[in-house]
Amino acid sequence: MEPENNLPDADGRAFARQKPSLGIVVPCYNEEEVLGETAARLKALVRGLLDSGVIRECRILFVDDGSIDATWQIVCDLHESDPLYAGLKLSRNRGHQNALLAGLMHAKSRYDAVVSLDADLQDDIGIIPDMLAAFQGGSDIVYAVRESRATDSFFKRTFSQGYYKVMEKLGSDVLYNHADYRLMSRRALCALSEFDEVNLFLRGLVRLVGYPSSVVYYKRAERYAGESKYPLGKMLSFAFEGISSFSTKPLKFVTIAGGGVSVLSLVLFVYFIVQYALGNTVAGWSSLIVSVWFLGGLMLLSLGIVGQYVGKIYLEVKHRPRYIVEDVVE
Ligand code: UDP
Ligand code: MG
Repeated sequence: MEPENNLPDADGRAFARQKPSLGIVVPCYNEEEVLGETAARLKALVRGLLDSGVIRECRILFVDDGSIDATWQIVCDLHESDPLYAGLKLSRNRGHQNALLAGLMHAKSRYDAVVSLDADLQDDIGIIPDMLAAFQGGSDIVYAVRESRATDSFFKRTFSQGYYKVMEKLGSDVLYNHADYRLMSRRALCALSEFDEVNLFLRGLVRLVGYPSSVVYYKRAERYAGESKYPLGKMLSFAFEGISSFSTKPLKFVTIAGGGVSVLSLVLFVYFIVQYALGNTVAGWSSLIVSVWFLGGLMLLSLGIVGQYVGKIYLEVKHRPRYIVEDVVE
């Protein structure tokens, strides 16, 4: 009988740790311009790892996230040219997080260690040997963390760094400057598969898995070619996703703000009564109009925040599939 969770026995585990089979998962959305180069560079790296006996086998799995360009065709051609390359095609565009999850879940029971990285070569693949060394040293999760953000635009850099700080203040455990470039062991992936929320924020979920982990630093490069697939709108909604999936503090702020404003209006009430007694009532127009707008704004904002959470509950309750696989080449 197969052991539970597909986990090998102790001897098997020790072997898998010292000379693992490696899966590399690369989500791709309209990446025809970079895919060839990414594939070639990964292949050179993997050949080196195989030759030096660090790993015993490897597959590079490209996940086509419903691209509308030649991405899938390129993946199929790559697979034809060398079985080192494999591909997973999603039925439509589901976003980076879902595409990544699709790849990880596909790789989960196939490899001892799985590395995920972006297709655009911004993540320095040169540190994969270091990540493997950390894995061999006993880490189940190895986080790659950006040392500098010199290649990001000023706006993106400021936004992202502020964001990590806010996340921290809100009490969610995200690793500063870590995106989705990481290595995970088989059992860490099995644990990750236990989370079945629809609103995905993987870098937060992985932290919840626990297990021994370590960090490897790298310098983030420029995108090799093509344009970012994360325009401002997507970036902002992803940012809110992260906050609302891991923290209910915004709801608390709403309550506190509501309480504060109520107390304030009581004080103002007393002030207005005094003004009335003194016969100064007509002069109250400005305070009146200010409070009307202030309270109206505050209520709309509060309603909006509560609504965001309700909306997420709505999506979770429906529990729709997070992705649908259309085709596999391996
Ligand atoms: N990506 C994806 N689906 C999407 C958007 C992006 O699979 O809907 C992939 C994309 O191909 C890349 C990775 O996610 O491999 C990161 O995207 P990108 O480099 O455009 O983001 P940035 O580095 O600008 O934040
Ligand atoms: Mg990128």
